[in-house]
Amino acid sequence: MSPDEFREQGKKLIDWIADYYENIEKYPVQSQVHPGQVRQQLPSQPPIVGESFDAMIRDVDQIIMPGITHWQSPNFFAYFPSNSSFPSILGDLLSSGLGVQGMLWATSPACTELETHVLDWLADMLQLPAKFKSHSSGGGVIQDTASNAVLTAVLAARERKTNYQVNESGCRHPLVAYVSTQTHSSVEKAIKITGIGTNFLRKIGCNETLAMNPALLEQQIQEDLANGLVPFFVCATVGTTSTNAMDPLPEIGRIANQYGLWMHIDGAMSGTAALCPEFRHFLNGVELADSFAFNPHKWMFTNFDCDCFFVADRAALIKTLSILPEYLKNKATESGAVFDYRDWHAQLGRRFRALKLWFVIRHYGVSGLQYHIRRHVELGQLFAGWVRASSDFVLYGEPPLNLVCFYHKNGNSFNQVLMDHLNQTGLIYLTHTVVDGKFILRMCIGQTNTELKHVEQAWKLIKQTAKELCE
Ligand SMILES: *Cc1c(COP(=O)(O)O)cnc(C)c1O
Repeated sequence: MSPDEFREQGKKLIDWIADYYENIEKYPVQSQVHPGQVRQQLPSQPPIVGESFDAMIRDVDQIIMPGITHWQSPNFFAYFPSNSSFPSILGDLLSSGLGVQGMLWATSPACTELETHVLDWLADMLQLPAKFKSHSSGGGVIQDTASNAVLTAVLAARERKTNYQVNESGCRHPLVAYVSTQTHSSVEKAIKITGIGTNFLRKIGCNETLAMNPALLEQQIQEDLANGLVPFFVCATVGTTSTNAMDPLPEIGRIANQYGLWMHIDGAMSGTAALCPEFRHFLNGVELADSFAFNPHKWMFTNFDCDCFFVADRAALIKTLSILPEYLKNKATESGAVFDYRDWHAQLGRRFRALKLWFVIRHYGVSGLQYHIRRHVELGQLFAGWVRASSDFVLYGEPPLNLVCFYHKNGNSFNQVLMDHLNQTGLIYLTHTVVDGKFILRMCIGQTNTELKHVEQAWKLIKQTAKELCE
C-alpha cells in the first residue's frame, strides 16, 4: 500500500469510525450471533492474491459487525466498562503509525520518558504518596492489564521475601498469599503462574459489605506462621468486580507491614474515582502499599489496553525481572541514568501506550476527567434511588460509586429470565453476579457517552420488561 493509498483509505476509515459512533445506538448492544456464525461466513483458505481494501471493509460491515458487542454504546452497562474516547483512539493510531517497540530507553527515548512523566502526573492526580513517583524510590509503568500488574507484584513479592532466591533455585519456600473471597480471579491465576500454588492462597472471609475482614486476615497469618509457613503477599481491592466492595486498606496495610507482606492494591475499576477529591478517601491507606494498579482502559476513556502499575520500590521489581543479554547491552542502560521498562514486567517488547494516555489527559484536562467520573457516579446514585423507591426491586447494598447491584423480588430464576430478556432486546446490556446464592443484576454506569436519558430509558425498560414477565 502506497502512502497515497494509505492516506485515502485511512481517511475513509476514520469516517467509518466516526459514522459508527454516530449510529452506535442502532446496533443491538450485545451481539446476537450464535456460536460459529462469524467463521461460517469466512473463506476456508486465505486469498492467494491480495485483495482490495474496499473488499475488506465490505466484509467488516457484513460479517464482522453482527458479531460485535458494542462496548462503546452508551447503553452498555455490563461487566465493568472498557471505555474509550476519540483522543485515545487517535493516540493509539499514532502509536501504530510510529510502530515503536519501546523495550529499552535506547530503543525510543520518548516512549520511555513520556510514560514515566505521564505516570508521575497520574500519581499526583490520584494523590498517591511520593514513593510511587519516579524521582523517589518507585515509579509507574503501563502494563497491558490489571492481571499482569498483579502477576508482576506477586513475582516481586516472592523474590523480596526469599532474598531473590526463587529466581535461581525454584520455589521451595512455603510461601502463602492472602486475598478475600471477593478478590478478582486474576490474583489466583498469578498464584498459579508464579509457582506458589493455590493450596497456599488463603481466601479471607468478608464482612456484610463484602469487604475483607482484617481480623480474620491477621488470625490466618498467625496460624500460618505457627505452622512454619511464610506469609508474603496480600491483595486488597478498591472496588471488587462482583459488587464494588471496598477492602479496608489502612487495616490491611498495618497487618501487611507488621508481618512483612507485600501489599498490592487492585483498583482496576474504582481506582479512577480518586481523581475526584470527594472520592479520594477510597484510597486512604495506599501509603502503606507496595504496589497499586488501576485501569484507565476501564473507566478513564483510554481504549484497551492500558493498566497503570505503581510500585514503591522499583529496585525490588527490577532485581526480580532484569536480564541483560549481550544483544540488549547499551551505554544508556549501563549508565544507570534511564529506565528500561522491559525490566518492569514479564514481556520484553512493548507498545507506545503512553501516547493515548497523554492525549486523553491533555484533551479532557484533570477537571474534564473529574466531570465525567462525577457524572457517572451521579447517574449511578440516581438509578440506585429509583431502585430504592420501587416496590418490585431491591437494592443489594449501598453503591459506593457507579455500580448498582439490585434484584427483582420474584427470586433467582425470575431475575435470570429478566436479564436474558433485557439483553435480547438489544437496547441495553447488563450482567449479573451471585452472592450467597442470590442472583443479582449489575448495572454499571461508566460508558463515555452515557447520559441521563440512557439511564432513564434503561430503568423504564427494566421495569416494563419485569411487568410483562409477571403477567
Ligand atoms: C477487571 C478487573 C481485573 C482484571 O482486569 P484486566 O485488566 O482485564 O486484567 C482485576 N481486578 C479487578 C477488581 C477488576 O475489576
